[in-house]
Amino acid sequence: MSTNIEVVVLGGGYDGVKAANRLARQAGVSVTLVDPRPHFVERIRLHQVVTGSDDAVESFGEVLGGDVRPVVDAANRIAAEERRVSLAGGDTLSYDYLVHAVGSGASVPGVPGAAEFAHAVADLDGARRLRSTLAEVPATAPMTVVGAGLTGVETAAELAEAGRFVTLVCGGVLGPSLHARSRRRVARRLAALGVTVLEGAGTRVTEVTRDGVRLDDGRDVPGAVTVWTAGFRVPDLAARSGLNARRPRTTVSAEETRAAPASFRSALETGDLRGLLDVLAPDVVFVSDGGGLRLAALRPVVGAGKVLRCMAGSLGKAGGVLTGEATTVNGNPGLVLRLDGGIDGVLTARVEDGRVTRLYYVRNPEKLTRVESETSLASR
Ligand SMILES: Cc1cc2nc3c(=O)[nH]c(=O)nc-3n(C[C@H](O)[C@H](O)[C@H](O)COP(=O)(O)OP(=O)(O)OC[C@H]3O[C@@H](n4cnc5c(N)ncnc54)[C@H](O)[C@@H]3O)c2cc1C
Repeated sequence: MSTNIEVVVLGGGYDGVKAANRLARQAGVSVTLVDPRPHFVERIRLHQVVTGSDDAVESFGEVLGGDVRPVVDAANRIAAEERRVSLAGGDTLSYDYLVHAVGSGASVPGVPGAAEFAHAVADLDGARRLRSTLAEVPATAPMTVVGAGLTGVETAAELAEAGRFVTLVCGGVLGPSLHARSRRRVARRLAALGVTVLEGAGTRVTEVTRDGVRLDDGRDVPGAVTVWTAGFRVPDLAARSGLNARRPRTTVSAEETRAAPASFRSALETGDLRGLLDVLAPDVVFVSDGGGLRLAALRPVVGAGKVLRCMAGSLGKAGGVLTGEATTVNGNPGLVLRLDGGIDGVLTARVEDGRVTRLYYVRNPEKLTRVESETSLASR
């Protein structure tokens, strides 16, 4: 069948890559993916770039289907009426359908001194800059992470695990999106890692200086390096192009959310994976933390068939009694998998329209020591 529909995908992050691969499998559809970088950035590993435990990049050749045409450039403006995108390099792309997947980046905080002295981990360049800065700072120098959302907590823990002396300035509650019990667990784990947590009233940062931060209760927190994780910024491409950037939210029923891990649990415990075909979206993406000491899928596995084969292979090699325990991870349904009673990993699913579209598996034993201590409380 000849190609008759032109799709342009703006942004080669998780969503752009997934959309491009999925669309390119349709007959008669030609897909072009535009991203200013020549490679895919694994943003969820950017805090690891800072300590050097991961480089957070994959070549587009590894993640993009062969039918997707990559263009290394940035979209400057979308002319929706004419169905055209102008690129920074001067070219113009025409499309029948456009996928806008340009993600987010570090916010520019309005706090005095932050833009000048604080570092960010929200994008690759920022994370790499921070890594270079750390290389020049003595290992004993104190550092401050501002913002105690999940990125701030992860960054503080990563730095502390690398032997740094870290103060986490919450500006309010530690881990505001977490359940209170999980929050207490996180606090205990951070304490065990040696992270000083400043939370509650008076801990909002009012100024960043070369030597640390000042809090609104007047305290000065010394730090050779400040990392700002308090907030993200959405690119202004859509707004600049006069488009309404609000996105519709899909609602997933509690029943759908529960059904996915229940099917996984049964399939993994019985070894009969066929039932999972009803649960997995055809283009499900399976991502695992390849940085661990154990064997894990180093690259995203795309497609229900491939994911099932990958799981069947792992189960075949497991050689023990596998059990699953329902849990929630950042509000998503998940399973703690135990092999002969010991935690093997944590599987998290994203459920959309009743199907699992994303699976994340954490097997890194160093991360799992945290799970071991947090599981019973996070489970339900
Ligand atoms: C340190 C850190 C840890 C995280 N950990 C987790 C986690 O454990 N779990 C989780 O679910 N989420 C995590 N997140 C959040 C997660 O990274 C984002 O939700 C996810 O990256 C969003 O995917 P996306 O495809 O929408 O955008 P992105 O991954 O941001 O990709 C957007 C892409 O668009 C491109 N782009 C931007 N502007 C243009 C333009 N004008 N033209 C063309 N292309 C453009 C960019 O180069 C980029 O490649 C973490 C984030 C950070 C920073």
